[in-house]
Amino acid sequence: MADRRATIPPQDRSQKIELNEKFVPIVLAGDNDHDLSILSEYAEFWKVPYTLATQLDGKQILVISGLSKEVDMREKGPVIISPTGIEGAKEIARQFGLNVSSEETLVRLPVAPGASVSLQTKLYRFSGPDLEPALKDGDTIILYKIRGSRVHILSADLVSNYHQLMYDRMDENPSWRFRLLTKMPFSYRIVPSSIRNRVFKAKGSISGLREEALGPVECLRSIFLAALVIASGSPIPTIGFWRRGKSYALAVSHDVETRVGLEDGAGLLIGVEKEIGIRSTWNIPSDRYPLSSQLLIALAETGEVGGHDTKHDGRLVFTSFKDKVGRVRRCRERLESLSKREVRGFRAPLLQHGRELVEALGRAGYEYDSSMPSWEPLSPTSLGPHGVGTVFPFLISGIVEIPVSMPQDHQLIRVGGLSVEQAVDQLLEVSRWVKTIGGACVLLVHPDYEFGHESGRDEYRRLLETFRLDPTCDVMTLGEMARWWTYRQESHIDATGMISARSSESKDRVGELDLEFVTGYSSEGFKVERLGDTGMIELPKGLER
Ligand SMILES: [Zn+2]
Repeated sequence: MADRRATIPPQDRSQKIELNEKFVPIVLAGDNDHDLSILSEYAEFWKVPYTLATQLDGKQILVISGLSKEVDMREKGPVIISPTGIEGAKEIARQFGLNVSSEETLVRLPVAPGASVSLQTKLYRFSGPDLEPALKDGDTIILYKIRGSRVHILSADLVSNYHQLMYDRMDENPSWRFRLLTKMPFSYRIVPSSIRNRVFKAKGSISGLREEALGPVECLRSIFLAALVIASGSPIPTIGFWRRGKSYALAVSHDVETRVGLEDGAGLLIGVEKEIGIRSTWNIPSDRYPLSSQLLIALAETGEVGGHDTKHDGRLVFTSFKDKVGRVRRCRERLESLSKREVRGFRAPLLQHGRELVEALGRAGYEYDSSMPSWEPLSPTSLGPHGVGTVFPFLISGIVEIPVSMPQDHQLIRVGGLSVEQAVDQLLEVSRWVKTIGGACVLLVHPDYEFGHESGRDEYRRLLETFRLDPTCDVMTLGEMARWWTYRQESHIDATGMISARSSESKDRVGELDLEFVTGYSSEGFKVERLGDTGMIELPKGLER
């Protein structure tokens, strides 16, 4: 979280924890493998050390989805129960003698001073004489505690919400208008732009860029972590998202739509990037316009080259799996032979995406994809707002997906009607929120549009400088980000409280991973501590262990 260097006032300092002490183990349990795998994804996101329920010795923090029969509720250690579906909520109510009703609510959770995450969802409201709130937002109770016990009940359904946000939204449903355009015997780009603009014009446009749209998944993840901290009363070890000393990340990417964009706009953008010291990712269609090997070699040397389909005709998502694999493989091979470098990543035209495409990319030898927007006011494919609801990379089907977390220039300027200056202001505003939650700012700037013109140069410089001047921003290319995220995901905190890496390659980099301790949660968000030189962390008074 952003409040990484939070300090604890001296009067509150009392206890200290020696690092070599073992942590309270976190044990996950669920009614079935699906629930368990989703709870594991929460734990893997924060990198909290955890095990799956096998044997319980009464000292662990138990996190349960639903109410599996083998779990004894007279546990001595803290228990957190997340209801799964209305039936799960009713079962919890029955077992503890409570009443339950459900209600559609906007949940808001502070994560750092002045920063919050939000989610629009159905909450289960439990009531009963022995119930007290352990975490609430205004009148909305997020975590309940049963008096005289260490049993905690969440009002949010961690499993169903996560599944719905992360997996159901990965496949976008193309609108009939879009299908019609791509079935025409010519490219959708030949449709007169006046018609396209009318069809593609957003109604509410950019005003929908709120935290509950960009990162509802972040709210669920924060609920998971806050519940652990509150229920356990112990510091929870996690691994920082980015390299030691950095609190969020930036990757700059460009999709090159036209030959003019490649030959003129790209040079202008690179000029600014070199001045500021930022390397970027150039996504190029392999068979849309003539490509010179010399230019691609130059792009691969100043930054990196990624695939952007072959013809860029909007038909990629409609092809069979076999054709998808063939098409993205041809794209990679041609770009590799022209640029003389390995091509590891892909960006789909129009940010079209789906699990089948991700699987095809893995089959065709790509390491990462960056085609899913966190949120867009107007998807050209579904003709509505759409996004995957997270601003962090994630692993899917063996490859890293890096969501396009920032609104792209085209959406802000051509769909939203903003000036270039207003677009930069909007991007910086979104980046401030991404920073507070420690996410990845992924910029998509087209050399073919306004930023690639002479008149956009100063604003492009203002945008990049803001990130460059922030020492807490980890600036990397998409390819570097994909490797870093894999490396972090493959590491874990072992029983002695040390970070271990799985592969020998990543062992060399283990020092870059940052062990952090979430020592408290309040209306100011998470309290995060790092190890000092003494190898100790200091805990606020009152934290039971
Ligand atoms: Zn494109």
